[in-house]
Formats: sequence, C-alpha cells, structure tokens
Amino acid sequence: MNDLAEKDLKYIWHPCSQMKDYEELKPIVIERGEGVYLYDTEGKRYMDVISSWWCNLLGHCNPHISAEIKKQADKLEHVIFANFTHEQAIKLCERLSKILPEGLCKFNFTDNGSSAIEAAMKVSFQYHEQTGNPQKTRFMALTEAYHGETIGALSVGDCDLYTKLYKPILMDVIKIEAPDCFRCPYGKKRDTCNCKCAEKAVKTFAKYGNETCALLVEPLLQGSAGMKIYPPLYLKKLRTLCDEYNVHLIADEIATGYGRTGKMFAFEHAGVSPDIMCLSKGLTGGYMPMALFVTTQKIYDAFYDDYNTGKAFMHSHTYSGNPLACSCANAVLDLMEDGTILKRAQENAVYFNNIIKEKFLSHPNVGEVRHIGLINAIELVKNKETKESLDSKLRTGYQIYKKALKKGVILRPLGDVIYFNPPLTIERKDMDYATDIALECLNEILSN
Ligand SMILES: *Cc1c(COP(=O)(O)O)cnc(C)c1O
Repeated sequence: MNDLAEKDLKYIWHPCSQMKDYEELKPIVIERGEGVYLYDTEGKRYMDVISSWWCNLLGHCNPHISAEIKKQADKLEHVIFANFTHEQAIKLCERLSKILPEGLCKFNFTDNGSSAIEAAMKVSFQYHEQTGNPQKTRFMALTEAYHGETIGALSVGDCDLYTKLYKPILMDVIKIEAPDCFRCPYGKKRDTCNCKCAEKAVKTFAKYGNETCALLVEPLLQGSAGMKIYPPLYLKKLRTLCDEYNVHLIADEIATGYGRTGKMFAFEHAGVSPDIMCLSKGLTGGYMPMALFVTTQKIYDAFYDDYNTGKAFMHSHTYSGNPLACSCANAVLDLMEDGTILKRAQENAVYFNNIIKEKFLSHPNVGEVRHIGLINAIELVKNKETKESLDSKLRTGYQIYKKALKKGVILRPLGDVIYFNPPLTIERKDMDYATDIALECLNEILSN
C-alpha cells in the first residue's frame, strides 16, 4: 500500500464512511486536479463526475478562481466580521442581490451549509417571536429531505441513513409527505400532473400552520434522497400555503443553486421567491467552505431596533464572511455572470440526458432515468414492472462505485441510484466516457 494511505488510516476518521470498508478499499491519495479530472500520487486519473460532493462547479483548479484567491491571500486572509467588513464581501452581496429571486437582499454568512440552515431556522423563529407570534415554535420539512448534519439541520432532514439513530436527541419537526414522482401514488406523470400530492401539505398546514415558523424545502430536487425530482408547481403551492399561514418558506439551494438545475437558482423555475434562501457548495466553486443565508427587508427590519430591546440576531461564526472564500465566490460570478456557461450547460444537459437514456433505459434493472439540468440519475430496481427496489443489503450501488473507481470514474451512488452531477463545464467526450464506464460496471455487477 501507498505510504500516505497507510498514514492516513493511522490518523484520519473519514466523513460518512464505515472505516472498516477502507480495509478493502484504501483511501485514494489525490495529488492534483485539473478540470473534471483528479490525479492520484501514482499518476492515475479519475473523472470527478460528482463534482467532489457537488461543490466543484467549474472544474478543479480553475485558472481564474485560483488566480483570484492567490491575489486575495496576499492582501487580506481574514478579519472579524462584526463591525468590520471588506470589499470582497460587499461586492459579492451586491452582485448576488441582482440575480437572486426578487426580494432577497440581506445576507448573513456562515462557513458550511448545515450552519446556514441552522441560522435560517433561528432567524425565522426569532422573527415570529419578535412580531407577536410566540406560539410559532416548530418547523415543517418534507419526508426524505436532507439539510445537513448538525443537530438542528438533521432534525429537519429525514433520510434514515443519517437521521434515524439520532432521533432521541432531535427536535420534533412536522413532516409533510414529499412528492414521489417515480412511484406516484396517484399514477400521474411528473411533466403533466397537477400536484395532487400537495393536498398532503394542505392538510398539514391546516393542522399545524399556526404553530409553525418555517417550512424548509430543497427546491425541485431532493438530492440525498436519491436525486428525486418534483415539478415547480409543487413549490408554487407551498408558497401559497406559507403566505396563508404566515409561515416562512426557507429554500435550501445549497445543492440546487448556481446553475445545477439549468437556471441560476431552482426557485426561478417556479417563478416565486422564498423568504430565506441558503447557499453553499457551488457558491465558491468548491474552493473554500462558505455558506450564507439571504433574506428579505421585512425579516431584517423585525430585528432592527435599539440595542436594549434585545432584538439583534446574536449569531456568529468565527469565519463569517471570510475574504478568501468571498474572493472565490466573486471569481465564480466573474465566470458565470454573462450567462455563457449556463447556456452551454443547458445544451450539454440535453445531450447528457439523451445519451443516458440511449444507453441505460432499456436495461432490465433501470427503473427510471431522470434529469434536471446537468444532474442525471439512474434508479436501479429489482423489477422494472413493479418498481420493486433492490435489496439494500446487497449494496449494489457501492459495488458499482468500486468497479467504476478501478476504471477511473468517481460515481458514488446514493444507495442504488447512480447519478452524474458534473462541473457545468464538462465536455461531451467526458460525458460519453463516464456513461460508457458506468454502463460497463452496471452490467458487470447486475449481469442477470
Ligand atoms: C450539502 C447540503 C447541505 C449541508 O451542507 P454542508 O456544507 O455539508 O454542511 C444542506 N442541504 C443540502 C441540500 C445539501 O446538499
């Protein structure tokens, strides 16, 4: 074994891993990255079609972003963000406020997605407390949601794999049964339905709306649930319900923001605005850990008063508004602002989806191929007709992952859902290659 890998195992406890699995599959020591590729210390090349946990937006070591962060490092690496500020943060917020859904204009920085979710939840609770609705103390979220790993974020999440064990220490969150377009209980089709499933939300609001401060949603795409996609109309209906019951709509665009769904923000597809939006992942192009929530003037104003009224939002993170991270975020906008990358990504999305349908749809274990923007998912099933799932204990997705790694493609399926969420700048030859390898591995593992 590689010396470094051995040392790694001596010291490091890796995220989201059963460390015993590393006995068989050693940690891969990556030395450098370029575009959609990563290279290990032996010179082996890996295609990163999952954007290193969905954050690498414009390829590894993008020359422009790298140049900007280097410049910033020589000028100012960090400064306390209470009472102090800096040009990169101001510039970033000014630019974002011009492209965000209408009404979102006040920015609060954190340093990871989960903490942006927690900060948004606290702000929503405090808003209602300070505007005469102290009975609003609870949160609503969709089943199978994912909003991060800290206790509050985990509470509004609902993926058993991450949540179940911790239930005794989580908050009591009201769950709305999420749309399930692949196995629609009403037998409808995603593209043409009228979102009858939103009636579940109507019932939940009637029962709990009065005691609820906010509803959290991953707009259009429940990522960790297995890249489950639902129609924009559902979001519109949630917006109406939130207005009716004075409940904040918190958009978790941590995964969907920055062009991942074909528009800059997923909420644009629905033509409505959330009250609070959380961003991270693509925000810095995958360079630096940074997140933020952005909200409305109305919410901001409910906190604005003399100090002794105690209305301030007393929430901070040491690295709030870090200048290096902000310089990356500005560099990302430099590259994306004129819309060329997004346009090319949309064209490539059509190409990508077509080749995936061509290669995978007829396979007896492929239940559905679905896509939004450049994100494509292939849901594997035991039985194509009944849509019966594979036995999760077989870890089919993980077997495919290991095979693909050997062949130099990083897939990392979510359970038995294989997906591609590549940098927006991926080239067609790379999509051809990644899908060929994925199909080869699928056939090797499921050769029935
Ligand atoms: C990744 C993710 C988070 C959590 O962000 P972290 O930076 O990993 O804490 C929250 N919500 C969604 C939708 C995500 O994809």
